[in-house]
Parts: sequence; C-alpha cells; structure tokens
Amino acid sequence: MQIRLDTTRCTGHGRCYSLAPELFDSDDYGHSILRTPDVPIGLESRAQLAVENCPESCLSLE
Ligand code: SF4
Repeated sequence: MQIRLDTTRCTGHGRCYSLAPELFDSDDYGHSILRTPDVPIGLESRAQLAVENCPESCLSLE
C-alpha cells in the first residue's frame, strides 16, 4: 500500500499528521510531508483514517 500526497492542494489543516504521525510530518508552514510513501505493515487503517479525514482530498491510497 502506498500513500499519494498532492502538495498543490494541501492547505495545512494538520489532520493527517495529527491522526497518523507515524506516516506524516509537517513543514514550517503546517503543510503535510510524507515520512514515507510506503505504508508499513500494521498502519494501513491509520493511513486510511488520514485519507478519509483530509478536508482537501489531497491524500489517496494505491
Ligand atoms: S489533512 Fe490534508 S490538507 Fe491537512 S495537512 Fe494533511 S494533507 Fe494537508
């Protein structure tokens, strides 16, 4: 499973790195940074939660 982040749409609400800090970090402006595109085993549901809670729909799973 991989996460895709569309950085052009991220407005920095911070839900992703609040809900899944193992998968996301933030830059100095509060925008999301992927720690890794590959979702580690055991964190799939956390990745799904982050995707579902991004208000800008800039996260997706493949
Ligand atoms: S929840 Fe979405 S809009 Fe908010 S920081 Fe994460 S990727 Fe960006």
